Amino acid sequence: MAKITYYYNTETCNYEPVKVSRKDMIFQLLGFLTISGILAAGLIYVYHTNFRSMKENRLMEDNQKLVLDWQILQEELDAAYQVVEELEYKDDEIYRVILDTEPIPVSVREGGIGGTDRYGEIMREGIPQQNIILHAYQEMDNLKKKLYIQSKSYDHITEILEEKEKMWASRPAIQPISNEELVRIASGWNPKRFNPVLKRVMPHKGIDFTASKGTPIYATGDGVINRSYRSSSYGNVIFLNHGYGYQTRYAHLNKFNVKVGDRVKRGQIIGYVGNTGRSVSDHLHYEVLFKGAHINPINFFQRDLSNEEYEKLVEISQQSHEVLD
Ligand SMILES: [Zn+2]
Repeated sequence: MAKITYYYNTETCNYEPVKVSRKDMIFQLLGFLTISGILAAGLIYVYHTNFRSMKENRLMEDNQKLVLDWQILQEELDAAYQVVEELEYKDDEIYRVILDTEPIPVSVREGGIGGTDRYGEIMREGIPQQNIILHAYQEMDNLKKKLYIQSKSYDHITEILEEKEKMWASRPAIQPISNEELVRIASGWNPKRFNPVLKRVMPHKGIDFTASKGTPIYATGDGVINRSYRSSSYGNVIFLNHGYGYQTRYAHLNKFNVKVGDRVKRGQIIGYVGNTGRSVSDHLHYEVLFKGAHINPINFFQRDLSNEEYEKLVEISQQSHEVLD
């Protein structure tokens, strides 16, 4: 039922119903709607500025989780970076020092990455977390570059090692007569030795190993036989070229076990002890040359001698002994 409003008519002295025109009703309705609209808008504004929707809450949570995940990734990246820096340190300060090779120049290791606008796209996107994203990209790029340089460095070190291994295998490093079969060392290195037979100073540029006839003689390093002949002084003699400037000679042999051009390995039997040439008894005269000059073979026996044996050998080789030549 419609609500009827009355008013007191002083002329008729009666209460009479208020008659509202259609126009007034429309104005009242419009006014009501306007106020309601303003109130609703105000409420919506207050709600949106002070409260988040469920969707926004979910997005905020996702965002926080993403930032946390990103921070964890950044920590992982930092750890990987540290590992690579340790590898660089070992490379420069240990491996290259052992191999007697120059470290990689800092300018190569620290060289920048090309392109000034490389990270421009990230900056232009205006992401709120752009600084941590940018930092991670830069660190990842640095890491990739460092790993590439390190990988190339290891390739280089492998090449050097292979070459050094070849050199170490070639360098004279053992006695040409095994200790079990060695009777004694008769004469050592002596550049001013007086030869009582010839009555003049005759340098002895090698070491004489006394052993019975037929005792095996071993190549002291890898190499190629470049001479094997009979000479009046050396008798049956072998010249072994090791490469890298090294050569060894084995004289007064009874028999050869190799011929010119043969490639031999360290420890391979190349001949047998004898008494040929200018020699007074069965023994091996052994010489080492570096770049054409004789050097004391005593420096090349470390590999198969104990410290005690080596010291004894040095002592014997420094004394003057009988002349076997
Ligand atoms: Zn000799």
